[in-house]
Amino acid sequence: MEQVQLLIDGTFVDGEDHRWIEVLDPSSEEVIGRAAEASPGDVDRAVEAAHRTFPTWSQTPPSARAAVLRKAAALASSRLDELARLLTLEQGKPLKEAKGEIRASIDALEYYAEEARRIYGETIPTDQANRRSIVIRQPVGPVAAIGPWNYPVLLLCWKVAPALAAGCTMVAKPPSVTPLAVTRFLACLIEAGLPAGALNVVLGPGRTVGERLVRHPLIRKIGFTGETRTGETIMKAAAEGMKRISLELGGHCPLLVFPDADVEAAAKAAAYRAFRNMGQICNAVNRIYVHRALHDRFVEAMVEETRRLRIGRGIDDLDLGPMTTREGLEKTMDHIEEARAKGARVVYGGHRPAGASFEKGYFLVPAVLVNVDHSMKVTREETFGPVAPVMTFDTFEEAIGLANDTPYGLVAYVFTNDLKTALLAAERLEAGTVGINNVAGGEVPFPYGGWKESGLGVELSHHGLEEYLLLKHIRIEFK
Ligand code: NAD
Repeated sequence: MEQVQLLIDGTFVDGEDHRWIEVLDPSSEEVIGRAAEASPGDVDRAVEAAHRTFPTWSQTPPSARAAVLRKAAALASSRLDELARLLTLEQGKPLKEAKGEIRASIDALEYYAEEARRIYGETIPTDQANRRSIVIRQPVGPVAAIGPWNYPVLLLCWKVAPALAAGCTMVAKPPSVTPLAVTRFLACLIEAGLPAGALNVVLGPGRTVGERLVRHPLIRKIGFTGETRTGETIMKAAAEGMKRISLELGGHCPLLVFPDADVEAAAKAAAYRAFRNMGQICNAVNRIYVHRALHDRFVEAMVEETRRLRIGRGIDDLDLGPMTTREGLEKTMDHIEEARAKGARVVYGGHRPAGASFEKGYFLVPAVLVNVDHSMKVTREETFGPVAPVMTFDTFEEAIGLANDTPYGLVAYVFTNDLKTALLAAERLEAGTVGINNVAGGEVPFPYGGWKESGLGVELSHHGLEEYLLLKHIRIEFK
């Protein structure tokens, strides 16, 4: 039985109420571990520790902050297999994907270790001969970092790494569904020599522990990834005390296939990005628009690609594992049924896989749907499951209009070999990221942020570091 505790002021402790959260293996529905649940008093103590440590950590020289991040990255690398196994067990993703997530999290620590030494200021010319103006960047203060269960280690690292590099102290709240690997990963920072109190970890439900954390008056900034509705709640809470926020929220990402595209390559990419991690990704392909002339070829190729995907326990390391939660599975089945009732045709999947090994667990065969329209939930709400609805278009304008017909604006994908189509589509699509002839995910050197209801602010790159810094103008006058 795996177990993680809270981390408060440099010490791992049980919650003061001695309550525990059970952690399930989604491929067997069996309890595999538990996590200590924080009380309101535990949250307060964690925030107070972050507040107390802020003067020390923020004044630690950048190279020393960088050294801690680098050492933590080395420790996590030495534990890669163990961390990945734990992540697979609690989240369900295949082992190679879990390893990829841990490696990307290590990359975030290393990248922001480098950036810690590049927090530059500026000088601005003045009209007065006896004045000088300099602008410096300083850490915003104690940060609350809150993440979801689909990439629990990576998405917290995308906050922890820049915040600590900037000189902020923190209280992190991993998700209750998948608290194990991320808490063990964060422990590497403590072992690497982070001062006690600079990074605290509290665990527990969003509505109690999360709310207490974001409403705490000593928190100066909230970094959050999760659902759009939760993001709205957090934004309202942050208004009290005027806390800074960056919000990475839901998505409903379109993929457009123009008449000149390589249709097989587009179908292969679409199947990968729609179904990877069982569609439980903010940048999953959620709606596919194919030029009418290519529709049948595309659907045939997409079904072929989907048929090839092997499903099994994450630990068996095939292509797809189970979904992470029963609620997620039920929501996905409901979206498929609603679309079917409104006239969509399920050309592949959408049912539980057959066989004794799938009697337990949240398994689902990925679904490809045709005859879809924008009245259906699969095109309007974030399914967060392995469903790929395919629709058609006739003109460029129609394709752009359909793609932008959503309150979300996270990522859009375009397949075309025509330079003009590629550039004009990239400019017209309402999204923080546009992929042309690729479906690559977020990578640490490049800014990643949502437009419209997909978020506020950016993560990753040097822009992501700015989210944890405040500008200060220092005006100097002399005689
Ligand atoms: P969620 O919003 O339910 O929960 C996210 C985190 O917030 C959890 O740790 C939860 O405990 C906490 N929380 C919930 N209510 C809270 C509150 N009132 N105050 C403070 N904290 C609270 O999201 P989820 O189901 O864990 O994750 C899936 C969602 O995350 C999807 O919508 C997905 O698109 C989104 N997501 C976005 C990105 C991105 O970069 N834009 C990346 C991954 C996932």
